[in-house]
Amino acid sequence: MISWFSKNKPDYQNSYGSVKDPSGYLTIVYILALGVIALLASVSHTMITQMTSAQKETAEIVYIAGRQRVTAQQVALHISGFVNEKTPENWALVENSYFSFKLGHDYLVHGYLEEKTGSVEMSPQVYKIYFSDPVNLHRQAQNYIALVDEFLKLDEEQTPESKYKAFQTVSTNLATGELIQGLDIAAQQYQEEALAKINRLNRMQKGVFAFLLIALLLEATFIFRPLVSYVKKYSAQLLNMALKDTLTGLDNRRSFMQLAEAELSRARRHKTNVCVVLSDIDKFKAVNDTYGHAAGDDVLVHLAGILKKMIRKEDVFGRIGGEEFAFVLPQTNLEQGVKMMEKLRHEIETTPCPVKKDDGSEMRLTYTSSFGLVFMDNENEDIDALLKRADAALYEAKEAGRNKVVVAKAAKTEVLKAV
Ligand code: GH3
Ligand code: MG
Ligand code: MG
Repeated sequence: MISWFSKNKPDYQNSYGSVKDPSGYLTIVYILALGVIALLASVSHTMITQMTSAQKETAEIVYIAGRQRVTAQQVALHISGFVNEKTPENWALVENSYFSFKLGHDYLVHGYLEEKTGSVEMSPQVYKIYFSDPVNLHRQAQNYIALVDEFLKLDEEQTPESKYKAFQTVSTNLATGELIQGLDIAAQQYQEEALAKINRLNRMQKGVFAFLLIALLLEATFIFRPLVSYVKKYSAQLLNMALKDTLTGLDNRRSFMQLAEAELSRARRHKTNVCVVLSDIDKFKAVNDTYGHAAGDDVLVHLAGILKKMIRKEDVFGRIGGEEFAFVLPQTNLEQGVKMMEKLRHEIETTPCPVKKDDGSEMRLTYTSSFGLVFMDNENEDIDALLKRADAALYEAKEAGRNKVVVAKAAKTEVLKAV
């Protein structure tokens, strides 16, 4: 994704570098990442919903299968009750338990008998219990239902008591014999299968959870991690462009001013010595005019190399203009500052820069720099004021023939002699 994006034309470009606008790339990656999360969420939601409803259904089947046994016995019990005492209440009890048994049975064998989409899925084992010998539970249940059906058609006025008694005996025998055993076997089989199904669903649930974790991990690895490192790289690139001079790699004016102000505040707070210096390459325009702009650039890079080598790491310095460089020297008094800058000036003067002329030939170019140095003796002066005084001293150095270090006039009262 990143390599695809980087093939696109950069959006912001100057002669020293380019920054690509990452908004298109970031949008695509965010949409992709959100899309993956949404997909994962819907997949897991669907799976969990399905599992929950399967669990509910299984529990319902087991409950009904178990209840059939009790209901079958209740039917026989209520028939006995009615035969003993023929009240409408007892009649209603027979009817209710009968309907409950019939409905339960219909529910359990529904899908197979009436070719409707039944919610009960019979395993081959349960199917065998219901429809094959020796149990043949469906036939037994149907016989029982037919018997009670017949009983419910009896007419109290005409039916002799003996017939009632016969129904009582048959129904009691059925409800305590083979039918009950068959219902027991079916309930037990349903229970075992439900347990196995629930265990299977549990394993599936764990699988879904593991799948989610892996998918998120993959997303973090292949989407978010590259995204974060891309943003980091991009920010570093922007920060670098905002604070560094691209040609020399030194701090630019903006960065120098910030660092310098911080250094001056520290010096004011701790009442320590600090010098500020402004330097400018002498007759630099002539370098460009004589040897070409590229040679001029070589000199700037060469000078930056000398500065990096000569300047202490606690000092602040940067390229603040075309061929202008500025320095803040903490813990440095006037004498030490002048000594340091003299040393630097001498190093520049004696270290020629290898340059390629416009015609391609090589030569060693000797160049010099002038320096204006100011010692901070007035705490109210900020970096701008100090640089202004340093600039005046630099002007004096140029006036005095260049390749010199000149100390600025004191901000307070005494005027220091130019070196
Ligand atoms: P002086 O000794 O008085 O400082 O003379 P000078 O020629 O150095 O001063 P001037 O300010 O007239 O010229 C500065 C030149 O620096 C002009 C400009 O073309 C050149 N310059 C500024 N920035 C760059 C740069 O990035 N690369 C190159 N090659 N030249 C630059
Ligand atoms: Mg200049
Ligand atoms: Mg110059």
